[in-house]
Amino acid sequence: MTDGSPLVRVRDLRKYYGDGDSLLDRLLGRDAGSVKAVDGVSFDIDRGETLGLVGESGCGKSTTGETLLRLREATAGDVEFDGERVLGMDDAELKAFRRRAQIVFQDPFSSLDPRMTIGEILAEPLRIHGLPEDTGDGRSKAEYRRDRAKELLDRVGLSADQIDRYPHEFSGGQRQRIGIARALALEPDFIVLDEPVSALDVSVQAQVLNLLDDLQEEFGLTYLFIAHDLSVVRHICDRVAVMYLGNVVELGPTDDLFDDPQHPYTRALLESVPRAKLTEQGRRVEALAGDVPSPRNPPSGCRFRTRCPLVIPPAGIDVDQRTYREVMDLRERVEAADLNLAAIWDAVGDPDGSDKPAFKRHLREEFFADDLDGENENAVERALDALAEGDRDRAAETLRARFESVCETTRPVLQEREHPAACHLYDQPVESREGDEAEARVD
Ligand code: ADP
Ligand code: MG
Repeated sequence: MTDGSPLVRVRDLRKYYGDGDSLLDRLLGRDAGSVKAVDGVSFDIDRGETLGLVGESGCGKSTTGETLLRLREATAGDVEFDGERVLGMDDAELKAFRRRAQIVFQDPFSSLDPRMTIGEILAEPLRIHGLPEDTGDGRSKAEYRRDRAKELLDRVGLSADQIDRYPHEFSGGQRQRIGIARALALEPDFIVLDEPVSALDVSVQAQVLNLLDDLQEEFGLTYLFIAHDLSVVRHICDRVAVMYLGNVVELGPTDDLFDDPQHPYTRALLESVPRAKLTEQGRRVEALAGDVPSPRNPPSGCRFRTRCPLVIPPAGIDVDQRTYREVMDLRERVEAADLNLAAIWDAVGDPDGSDKPAFKRHLREEFFADDLDGENENAVERALDALAEGDRDRAAETLRARFESVCETTRPVLQEREHPAACHLYDQPVESREGDEAEARVD
């Protein structure tokens, strides 16, 4: 089929690990609830295209790649490959699909069986698939496979006479070439490249990227290229999807995305890419603050809001972003019952809890760099009063009443356009997408 339809279509793909009540979870007293590693991901990959999938470690990139190949079973969603529904395939259909869709893993050291020779490693996919059915030229099947392995070695820039060596005899870059050769063995149409150069030296990275580029051209391959580093995808990808905590937050043609990043997360990722050019060296490099929150209990609304430098205050409220962040951090600590009031009383040297002004001063010093004013100040003062009286609920409610953001109440979605971003700074449809609504709402 070459009718212009995408080769790969992913719709609302979800993968939740565990149901939170395994024996181990219970023994360790972990909170119930699953790890929402992939939580409603949609994209297309056109034939011959390279789609990049980028985001910090733990955002769900590998899970997305492995789930769409059905190396892991999806929790929900749809994957179509060349018009066929992958998630509904039976064993025979799956086997046929596996010939056409392959994966290359990040770690060339652990992804090759150390007990097998390179020839055996490269012949294995053929053997598993019962190939060749018939050599047709008097060669035995084993001979055919060995010749094919030599051909593959040659094609990925290794020498055919290395065929009887073992993985440990090769360098990282060479092993990754072997991993690529193994992925090519069945002449696939589509390869998920899961951080294929992340474990390699920079000098070797470029060579492997060039090889992938050449192979794509020669065999008309379609790639999903996973990376945590935006600088790697710039030259190899046609389009890029940026992933954060189980969601795609921005998707667009590579140049558009680099020249005009929309989502604050994409901007932060770009800012943290080291600048090579002299003219750009003076530029402020603002690394992303903090860690990715746990996908077991992701933030409501926009998942990036807990780290976002552009959270949107309610209409009519005048507050600078830093102060707003400080107020939200305070509320979050209060709501998560993560603020030990007794410890604060201890710290102010008043374990009996009578010197409320000292208690409030302590909290202000801990949370706020500058003085607040007007209604903002009033709301914070009332919240601190409530905390001094031990009433967390009232403190949280007071802060929420004045400062609650659309970013926490409503999950932003990707709009239908060439370069969408799931962010409330941009147009959002009036209705949330089906299935997102219940989760996006805050109780
Ligand atoms: P990435 O490839 O972007 O680094 P992953 O897809 O590997 O992210 O992981 C996404 C999230 O799912 C992480 O929080 C990770 O800890 C969790 N995770 C990955 N594999 C498993 C698993 N087998 N069981 C439970 N949680 C997992
Ligand atoms: Mg990964």
